[in-house]
Amino acid sequence: MTAPIIRITALEKRFADNHVLRGIDLDVQKGDRIAILGSSGSGKSTLLRCLNFMEIPSAGQIELDGKAVGTPGKGPGGALARSYSQAELAAVRQRVGMVFQQFNLFGHMTVLGNVMEGPVTVLGLSREEARAKALLQLEKVGMAHKADAYPGRLSGGQQQRVAIARALAMEPEVLLFDEPTSSLDPELVSEVLTVIRDLASEGRTMLLVTHELGFAYHYASRVLFLADGQFYETGTPDEVLKHPQGERTQKFLERFT
Ligand code: ADP
Ligand code: MG
Repeated sequence: MTAPIIRITALEKRFADNHVLRGIDLDVQKGDRIAILGSSGSGKSTLLRCLNFMEIPSAGQIELDGKAVGTPGKGPGGALARSYSQAELAAVRQRVGMVFQQFNLFGHMTVLGNVMEGPVTVLGLSREEARAKALLQLEKVGMAHKADAYPGRLSGGQQQRVAIARALAMEPEVLLFDEPTSSLDPELVSEVLTVIRDLASEGRTMLLVTHELGFAYHYASRVLFLADGQFYETGTPDEVLKHPQGERTQKFLERFT
């Protein structure tokens, strides 16, 4: 049995008095497509941000390919916390790519420039190599024809597809999607979901926070419902979405019917 690509053990995250994540355990195997559901403010974004260390966990451990990130030590307030070097965090962020609700493209760079940036500055590719690679990724999301455009001239769906190309150009092992279609006009949602569906069918490992329950039902291998800082209910899409056992899950899903 190979080590899971990500193993989360007893993960906690606090913001001052706000104890957002209260003991998260999860194994992600290569090829898993995990949909994460939960009410607004339940900590879905915080969880994804902890996974690529844009937020530093307050407690617990994250392993990538069987190797724990960080060094154990004494954190603030005497709580057992780990310490992380900048080099280690940069390496983790390369391996665990993130796509945001608000795209977060660099407005002063062209589409091509946005996708080339990480490969040049982080991976150390030459500009020619990075350009060739960026164009391939842009083709994959159907955006190569806009390579020279600036993000401000694109629709939200187009911007999100560029953001996905940008994440892919870093050759991550795992992709995190944080409500990638939530800020899109309804008619633009499907072009982004189509790209994510194609990535899923390539066998990519992904964690997707979404309220697109139909998409989760068809494309997720597992569905996790987050409530009170823990996974309240988990299972196959059919189990969690069609036959939820917990009262909280049932209440949450009722809002979508
Ligand atoms: P979700 O994505 O499920 O809507 P979030 O992870 O964004 O939830 O937020 C969970 C809780 O953590 C909220 O109470 C939010 O206000 C708080 N929170 C998130 N990020 C920060 C931060 N950087 N500083 C302080 N509080 C935060
Ligand atoms: Mg969020």
